[in-house]
Amino acid sequence: NPVRLQAIAAVEAFTPPPISFDPGEEPGEIFGTNVFSLSAMQKRLPKSVYKSVVATIEKSTRLDPDVADAVASAMKDWALEKGATHYAHVFYPLTGLTAEKHDSFLDPVGDGTALASFSGKTLVQGEPDASSFPNGGLRNTFEARGYTGWDVMSPAYVLENPNGNTLCIPTIFISMTGEALDHKTPVLRSQQAMSVHARRVLELFGHTDPDNVVAYCGPEQEYFLVDSHFFLARPDLLNAGRTLFGAKPPKGQEFDDHYFGAIPERVLGFMMDTERELFKLGIPAKTRHNEVAPGQFEVAPMFERANEASDHQQLLMTTFKSVAKKHGMECLFHEKPFAGVNGSGKHVNFSLGNSELGSLLVPGDNPHDNAQFLVFCAAVIRAVHKYSGLLRVSVASASNDHRLGANEAPPAIISVFLGDQLADVFDQIAKGGATHSKEKGTLMVGVDTLPNLTQDPGDRNRTSPFAFTGNRFEFRAPGSNQTVAGPMVMLNTIMAEALDHCATYLEDAVAAGTDFNEAVQALLSDIVSDHGAVIFNGNGYSDEWPVEAEQRGLKNLRTTVDALPELISPEAVELFGRYGVFSAGEAHSRFEIGCEQYVLAVAVEANLTLEIGATTVLPAALRYQTELALNVKALADAGLTPDRTGLETVSEKVAALTAGLAGLRTAIAHDHAADPLETARDARDLVLPAMAAVREAADELEGLVADDLWPLPTYQEMLYIL
Ligand code: ADP
Ligand code: MG
Repeated sequence: NPVRLQAIAAVEAFTPPPISFDPGEEPGEIFGTNVFSLSAMQKRLPKSVYKSVVATIEKSTRLDPDVADAVASAMKDWALEKGATHYAHVFYPLTGLTAEKHDSFLDPVGDGTALASFSGKTLVQGEPDASSFPNGGLRNTFEARGYTGWDVMSPAYVLENPNGNTLCIPTIFISMTGEALDHKTPVLRSQQAMSVHARRVLELFGHTDPDNVVAYCGPEQEYFLVDSHFFLARPDLLNAGRTLFGAKPPKGQEFDDHYFGAIPERVLGFMMDTERELFKLGIPAKTRHNEVAPGQFEVAPMFERANEASDHQQLLMTTFKSVAKKHGMECLFHEKPFAGVNGSGKHVNFSLGNSELGSLLVPGDNPHDNAQFLVFCAAVIRAVHKYSGLLRVSVASASNDHRLGANEAPPAIISVFLGDQLADVFDQIAKGGATHSKEKGTLMVGVDTLPNLTQDPGDRNRTSPFAFTGNRFEFRAPGSNQTVAGPMVMLNTIMAEALDHCATYLEDAVAAGTDFNEAVQALLSDIVSDHGAVIFNGNGYSDEWPVEAEQRGLKNLRTTVDALPELISPEAVELFGRYGVFSAGEAHSRFEIGCEQYVLAVAVEANLTLEIGATTVLPAALRYQTELALNVKALADAGLTPDRTGLETVSEKVAALTAGLAGLRTAIAHDHAADPLETARDARDLVLPAMAAVREAADELEGLVADDLWPLPTYQEMLYIL
């Protein structure tokens, strides 16, 4: 019996576990119970220590070592009460995964006993072996050590596990010589740079000594759920996270009957369990719903500071994976697990602000606010236009390549959607000054009275990779499996440059005696005329758009291989250096790691394609071919005239599959180029097409071979049986 049929039987026999739902529990009662939050600190720390921690968070003052000791001691007591036996510095290496090094709280004291100890030094700094993490040539092997350092702005938490709880401390991860080996360090650096210049702009608008400005990030996570039995019967899903074979199901998503449809009971149980876990960890999961494709869903937590949001996002993904397993399912975060079916993204909702002033991308009620808003908004336009290549490379990966530019995801061309009203305002600015707002037609005079914008919730363009949605921008190109740290680093950095430009322009103008409002008007109109080409309110999925985009001089970096060099362009290296985000060496290391990861991802898939093609699909096809041949012979022997077309068609496809496999073998054996980008290019141009040829023949065979012989769970089964 093929594994596939056994899997179907097992899925039918499966009963989902009861959900851990306590009807007596107040909603909100468990929120943050496993987090060493500010309120937990406030209860346990002396007032002065607590204040000092808050100052570190709000005003970026350096954490005092004495304070660290006091915090560590309170944190340890808290964690022990929560049943923690170990602590772990959690960091985010460039594999895109989360890494943890666990240490026991217990220290031997010499008389055969041990004491629970945890000092400020152990809280603040760790020294994991860094040799098995990608470093892109940054670290010599003899310097195997890496350092982790506590990110005070991201709270510690206790992770529950039946085998013992762990106190987890979010940290940065750097080399002996201080180079970033992770995703968090540049988030913090870029955040700092952006804040400096955002505050300069705010001061120009009359805010005295404003708090740090932070980037807020609200990630919308899409994912698929498939039953574990199917997952385990698909070596491609298991090892590559996506199906490398599989014909399109007869019923696809064309009925649009899944989006916002009723959530299947089994999935709802899973969602309730995940939410409970997320709540305990202080992750503000808010919306949940079905997505476009069958088997596809979305979760969106409330927005948070970028560094915290990205830690939470990583934690959310590991939580989802483990809770799904308990429910007999596998949670897929791959950007395109099923060809021809909607892919998964992770929309990054982005704004700037602080707790004092709220979001700076809210149009606001009075004209004065509007002028300030328009400057921040214009800065976004400049940033995205000038550095679209950096935004593009921040979402580049072998897996996201399958999604971007496909017909249900934004194209690889980065443009900005402003919506009718805001686009119209910038149009007027370009023509000499905004005098009225489109909707209301209210006449207004001068910059002071830039129009009051009302949010139109219907005003949504799903085809734009970067869209203004009323109080924030939504960057829709990030892939579901990526950390949001990458995009946030780029957004912060390019916003630092744009706000620096705006602040310098306005400061100079004011110093030269220009009226402030006139200076703002001039700045805005300069930005619109220099960078307005990036504004596009049309249909990003249309065939005309790439043509028009090219005429506008916008980049269309279709694949990861095209995008990666953006990281090391002279302008990018200069920009990163100027704002202290990456040294030239760090930028190069990230470029190299990007190439390596791409090549690795393609190589894993190519080998799997070869293996599954040769050992699973081909044997099934040969068996069926034999069956047909026997049938033809039997009919002929019986004196009938057999219809040979079935046998001929199958034989043709078997030949195509065999040829495809041979071609793939050759492509895989192709010598690796010395240059990392060249190697990546070979993977894209030689290996991917060879894989596609194998798949094409195999998928056609899927439609021909007898169902009881077909070995791999089909799309239909994986997507519709939950
Ligand atoms: P939609 O599906 O309409 O795009 P969702 O409700 O699914 O919206 O997700 C919206 C996301 O945007 C949430 O994570 C939300 O917290 C976030 N968000 C809302 N306001 C802001 C803001 N000012 N800055 C950043 N993110 C925001
Ligand atoms: Mg959404």
